[in-house]
Amino acid sequence: MQTVTKVKAINCLHFINGQFVESQNKKTFENINPATEEVLGTVAEGGKEEVDYAVAAAKRALDGPWKKMTLAERSKILRRIGDLILERQEELALLESLDTGKPVSLANKIDIPRAAYNFHFFADYITSVGTEAYQQDNQAIHYSYRRPVGVVGIIKPWNLPLLLLTWKLAPALGMGNTAVIKPAEWTPMTATVLMEICKEAGVPDGVVNLVHGFGPNSAGGAITEHPDVDAISFIGEPSTGTAIMKAAANSLKKLSYELGGKNPNIIFADSNLDEVIDTTIRSSFVNQGEVCLCGSRIYVERTIYEEFIQRFAERVRELKVGDPLTDGTDVGALVSKEHYDRVNSYIDIAKNDGATIVTGGKRPEGLSKGYFLEPTILIGLDRNSRCIREEIFGPVVTVTPFDMEEEVIMQANDTHYGLSATIWTNDLKRAHRVAHQIEAGITWVNTWFLRDLRTPFGGMKHSGIGRTGGMHSIDFYSELSNITIKL
Ligand code: NAD
Repeated sequence: MQTVTKVKAINCLHFINGQFVESQNKKTFENINPATEEVLGTVAEGGKEEVDYAVAAAKRALDGPWKKMTLAERSKILRRIGDLILERQEELALLESLDTGKPVSLANKIDIPRAAYNFHFFADYITSVGTEAYQQDNQAIHYSYRRPVGVVGIIKPWNLPLLLLTWKLAPALGMGNTAVIKPAEWTPMTATVLMEICKEAGVPDGVVNLVHGFGPNSAGGAITEHPDVDAISFIGEPSTGTAIMKAAANSLKKLSYELGGKNPNIIFADSNLDEVIDTTIRSSFVNQGEVCLCGSRIYVERTIYEEFIQRFAERVRELKVGDPLTDGTDVGALVSKEHYDRVNSYIDIAKNDGATIVTGGKRPEGLSKGYFLEPTILIGLDRNSRCIREEIFGPVVTVTPFDMEEEVIMQANDTHYGLSATIWTNDLKRAHRVAHQIEAGITWVNTWFLRDLRTPFGGMKHSGIGRTGGMHSIDFYSELSNITIKL
């Protein structure tokens, strides 16, 4: 057993026009470690003034050296940012773990390498982006060319802080935009370090700006209302998406939304149950279940339902919940007191709705501090229970038996969400047939969270607007102009 002891937290300042700065009024808020409930440091609390200052810097930078750089030069800077993230991987993984409560081993394996890869991927991708050209008989040729959208506001959630920020920032910078970033208030640290990295990699002053703070009537609200912000890239809850859309409507901003999910994990009896259970452990409880893609509604064909519950519960009870900095921890702490209380309230709702708690549902023994919850399996819930219908976003899954393919498709689609789905079957025809009927932006067959960054990523229904990944990201972060030349 190894425990990480080198704990170095940082006080987080804004980063505006290439400088780390305090708020004008010196206001700060505390950053709490969710695993210990101790104060990690302070965070500058920005508002309208800081956002005005950051947007003005970003607007000026659109016409500065950034605009004159060739694609190859911008690609080189993106690659350098990716390299520097990897050079500081250990430090970034530690900060991510301290901020979010996730196991540091997970941050080291997934969050930070993927953050670097987001930059490496788009460093390559932007150099191969072409445009369309059409010859219209002998009358004309038409061709299109891309230009940046302008100042992009990037507003972020707390669950995969650096991974999700870089997923948006890399293509935005690659296409020549400038950015004003607002990280989630609970997880400000890695975004702050990324600003140091951008500066070191040669990003000109004003191109990337970061303002810490909260949502409405704070930094988040000020970005969405600002008339000089041309586009908003938002990841978070659907209700926040509604508020942002209303605020952004006055200046008709371009919007990209990646929102919540209540994703079905459908297990047919002909699937390989060993593989199903290995992956379902991850798709249910990785990152404390705080991943928008987690398969929180598990549907199992009735003939294998009892066996599944027994084997799945056995494996879930073996998961180690505890100190995120200790090697071997599978499940860390939930991100904050507020979120912990919210997730626990769903366990009360489940009890009131007559659920049986197969395992979990309480604070692990021996952990008196920190926002820890045992991984929880709920069964016996009606399809109208709030635990089946609403996103819990914690280590809580429901399991429901089904008899017929049509029945499970209907249940899987009976939700406002449409982010992802997983189907387990060895019947190829059924895999395609069911996948085509599931209302989800991403459907995995016999796997989960297997990503290729060239593919479209995003949600249907209340799970998002638009797609990102590969060409879809390029399309969002650029404006296409068509030029027609009469022959
Ligand atoms: P949230 O919507 O509460 O907050 C997200 C961000 O928006 C935060 O930075 C917050 O300060 C800011 N914000 C809040 N209100 C605002 C307002 N009125 N104006 C401007 N900014 C505002 O979401 P969260 O709790 O941080 O994140 C969890 C949610 O994110 C879950 O629903 C999860 O499924 C979703 N999520 C989706 C994806 C995806 O790719 N689809 C990925 C990760 C998380």
